[in-house]
Amino acid sequence: MSIEIRHLSKQFGSFAALRDINLNIHSGELLALLGPSGSGKTTLLRVIAGLETADSGQVLFNNEDATSQPIRERQVGFVFQHYALFRNMTIFENVAFGLRVRPRQNRLKTQEIHERVTNLLKLVQLDWLADRYPHQLSGGQRQRIALARALAVEPKVLLLDEPFGALDAKVRKELRTWLRRLHDEMHITSIFVTHDQEEALEVSDRVVVMNEGRIEQIGTPDEVYERPANPFVYEFLGHVN
Ligand code: ADP
Repeated sequence: MSIEIRHLSKQFGSFAALRDINLNIHSGELLALLGPSGSGKTTLLRVIAGLETADSGQVLFNNEDATSQPIRERQVGFVFQHYALFRNMTIFENVAFGLRVRPRQNRLKTQEIHERVTNLLKLVQLDWLADRYPHQLSGGQRQRIALARALAVEPKVLLLDEPFGALDAKVRKELRTWLRRLHDEMHITSIFVTHDQEEALEVSDRVVVMNEGRIEQIGTPDEVYERPANPFVYEFLGHVN
């Protein structure tokens, strides 16, 4: 699924969170939205998801205007910073949840659900934890389950908002590798929000650097790192070793 964003603007009261954003996201790419806190990354992600409406501009999915399309029709999967797993459900049931709440005509048979969930749990190498509950897992394991759960409904677009923000440095590094691996396996157009330069540069195919509701630069990690477009990008990446 390709995504095109045209002249997107969004105000919160008198505060401009997004200012005339234009962006083409290629089908199957892993894109990082990178920028300091308050630069509009989450707002942009939420507008793409349909969780937030823009004041002006358009979002196109595969060249079709999705601006007024309700969220359930956008076929997006989510991973949030705080795993948001259901505490009273097993790991298996957490991953199966999205499949069980589908409208009747789209519902899978019990056997199909079992196969799909088992395959996803194998993919994140946690099938041995299927009968446990979220509190019995580590933070990193929970976030791998959150990834499996988002993928269970076979989304066309995967949106991740600071997916590893709550984890310590070692686990974050490990999960970056997981995200990259799952992405390469599934080829789903994926957008992840981060304020961590190293994470964005290491994992993504392209990086969008945002500041004060604007895009400062779009490029491959090498392009952005080697040739910062302006002093802001240069300064912002200055901390990367
Ligand atoms: P980022 O993800 O880059 O940290 P956000 O998109 O979350 O930035 O926020 C951009 C700005 O918009 C912030 O200053 C934030 O306070 C403001 N903002 C975000 N959501 C709301 C809201 N629902 N109401 C008012 N202000 C908001």
